[in-house]
Amino acid sequence: MAAEIIDGKAIAQQVRAEVAEEVATWLEAGHPAPGLATVLVGDDPASGVYVGGKQKASAEVGIEGFDHRLSADATHAQVDALLRELGDDPRVSGILLQLPTPEQVDGGALTEIIDPSKDVDGLTPISAGLLAKGRPGLRPCTPAGVLELLRRHDVELQGAEAVVVGRSDLVGKPVAALLLAQHATVTICHSRTRDLAEVCRRADVLIAAVGKPALVRGDWVKEGAVVIDVGINRTDAGLTGDVDFDGAAERARLITPVPGGVGPMTIAMLLRNTLTAARMQAGEPAWT
Ligand code: NAD
Repeated sequence: MAAEIIDGKAIAQQVRAEVAEEVATWLEAGHPAPGLATVLVGDDPASGVYVGGKQKASAEVGIEGFDHRLSADATHAQVDALLRELGDDPRVSGILLQLPTPEQVDGGALTEIIDPSKDVDGLTPISAGLLAKGRPGLRPCTPAGVLELLRRHDVELQGAEAVVVGRSDLVGKPVAALLLAQHATVTICHSRTRDLAEVCRRADVLIAAVGKPALVRGDWVKEGAVVIDVGINRTDAGLTGDVDFDGAAERARLITPVPGGVGPMTIAMLLRNTLTAARMQAGEPAWT
């Protein structure tokens, strides 16, 4: 079987166009524009590019941007104060602290003080707790993007065997929780899983979020499975995922490429989360 390729770029574009339309309707109804505040500490070039991309994408859909850039020697207390100020600012619907932060600033601890109703990255303990309990809340963007790709391809999750390789707070755990909420039978694998290949071979839906090029071999993929590769690895051959794409594509029914699969979905879901947060703050029962 030659797999159909899931075009994450096109789906992300669709999501962005939908958010733009919904923002326009929101403004026509007399609401203020949703606002996204990004906080970048230091001058890491890659982080600067990511934040710039998020702000540009926000502006394109009618979200107002608040682009806060602090110098590399900013103190933990300064970032703490800024995040609290943004929490109180009614123009700001969503707050994103770009990680990693310089050493003197504890990014993990600061993520925890973000107002949960503005937690568009979905990484605060409150958001994680709501997800774990199956309650509505703001979901982490990349995992939400994975689910959106599956949804747009009508992948049946109810009762499906889903295997997630990777158990990070950022990707693996939330993806597993989102799949569970869709009634999949979920197995989470990690670096100490025994016979990873055999577990992967059970999967109707196989998600790889590890950060190791081509860890998942083609013959680990069940015939007709759906394979979602979250990995982004910079190798001599360019960007590659965690899945041996050519081998897996011979057996899978649907597969994401790297780049152009999950990657573009992250910003699209951030925009959706920002609109959701604005709705929620206006009293709409819009939590997803
Ligand atoms: P992480 O390093 O926090 O977690 C990696 C996980 O993989 C860990 O849980 C670990 O137990 C597991 N693991 C490590 N070696 C393993 C092995 N040999 N077998 C099985 N499991 C193993 O990474 P992360 O933040 O979850 O990111 C994972 C990958 O996804 C990275 O390549 C990252 O760049 C990518 N990523 C992409 C996006 C996006 O597309 N926008 C977003 C976030 C992360």
